[in-house]
Amino acid sequence: MDIFLPEYAGVCVGVKRAIKMAHKTAEEATGPVFILHEIVHNTHVVKDLSERGVKSVDEVKEVDKGTLIISAHGVAPEVIADARSRNLEVIDTTCPLVWKIHRIVKALAEKNYTIFLLGERNHDEVMGVQGVAKDHIHIFHKKEEIAHLPQTDGPVALVSQTTQSIKYFDEILDMLLERYPQLEIHNTICDATEKRQTSALAIAGDMDVMITVGSMSSANSRRLQEVSAGLCRASYLVDSANEVSDSWFKGGERVGVTAGASTPEWLIEGVIEKLMEISRAKGFEPSVTRNESSEEEFIETH
Ligand code: SF4
Repeated sequence: MDIFLPEYAGVCVGVKRAIKMAHKTAEEATGPVFILHEIVHNTHVVKDLSERGVKSVDEVKEVDKGTLIISAHGVAPEVIADARSRNLEVIDTTCPLVWKIHRIVKALAEKNYTIFLLGERNHDEVMGVQGVAKDHIHIFHKKEEIAHLPQTDGPVALVSQTTQSIKYFDEILDMLLERYPQLEIHNTICDATEKRQTSALAIAGDMDVMITVGSMSSANSRRLQEVSAGLCRASYLVDSANEVSDSWFKGGERVGVTAGASTPEWLIEGVIEKLMEISRAKGFEPSVTRNESSEEEFIETH
């Protein structure tokens, strides 16, 4: 079996930053520490944080004292205001690239734009962005929903959830421009998502099998699996090595391994180990080709 890793895969700088901040908080806080929802959408990272004593809650009102961590996906400004009004210490790990969307949306709303947000309605990031300018934002995801967006001759703008597929964004854009020629375009798909999709696509067409490592709850992992499936029919999403089945292989395949932006390195390595074991068990000596590049950390300005 020949195993290939694309140039960019796995945990991004925004997720690394959020996990680091959460671990530091768990170590240093003197009182109880809570996290609103999940720090990032990966079951193993969430479990690890819980083992460090951080309790997950669904709503701010469940917390009466201590520290509340806000996840990398961000929240509506009113959520942070609510937490502060309850005298909670707030540790905000929102990714700077999600903050960028909050800033864009706020500025557009102040100029009275109608804002179309391409994203999954129940995703934490999308709900947080919506909370910045509730009266201006219309969330949609399916192409059929475009017909139900309000018609207007006034200013309109398109923004996107950071983890949407680039190809899908472009298709949506063409459809929207037919109906709203005045559309102002803000492609807010983040650099990490774009790099992971582009580099998975660069190898997927040459592979017999593509494996994306990531949790079902992770939007960018699901997207990676979907885009890989466009070029490689045997395309799977697995949460960890345990979900890799030897029935998928005869032993001599070319296998691409990519991973969502919330997937830690050790889970990817676990899948590679498992593939090597499967290959050997089927009588094929495995090889691993790595094309990995690293990404620059965010420069903290506050
Ligand atoms: S996927 Fe993009 S937006 Fe999300 S945490 Fe990573 S860098 Fe930030």
